[in-house]
Amino acid sequence: MKTPICSFDAKTGVLCSKCESKLSSGDITHDDIDASIRLTRLAEKNQDINKFTVVRAAQVSGDYVLVVRSPDMSVLRHDPAIARKVENEFGGKVWFVEAEASDRVFVENLLYPARVVSVNFFWLPDGAKLTKAVVANKDAQRLDVKKIQQISKTIRNIELLVEFEQTNR
Ligand SMILES: [Zn+2]
Repeated sequence: MKTPICSFDAKTGVLCSKCESKLSSGDITHDDIDASIRLTRLAEKNQDINKFTVVRAAQVSGDYVLVVRSPDMSVLRHDPAIARKVENEFGGKVWFVEAEASDRVFVENLLYPARVVSVNFFWLPDGAKLTKAVVANKDAQRLDVKKIQQISKTIRNIELLVEFEQTNR
């Protein structure tokens, strides 16, 4: 497994001088370190998790967001039990997003498993960019829209609006 800190540090919980200086320069955060240690503990017992590459980790309002590579995301989608194991280790909700994803795919990842009807980008007169996602109405109540907006802002600096499809019947 690859994490933002060296595997030796992640195993021992003690940072080498290289990782220590990454922390003081702000290249990595305490959330990166905490997540690396927890995931390394899990990886010792789980071959799928042991193959993961975690690019970045961040805590957003008590939930963890793990930024992983695209192949890891496919593994997670195939086997939901892996995500549950990670959530047990972290003691709460864990969101997975793809490092390589476009903003559109990033937003779709966060809204998953809700069906995303469209994602559009808008620019305000002051140059600020807004991203609007329209979600199928039937999937609306399962979404924590406020949390998804906070994660978008923290991880990608995306100002996200979520709307629900109006069904006329
Ligand atoms: Zn290190």
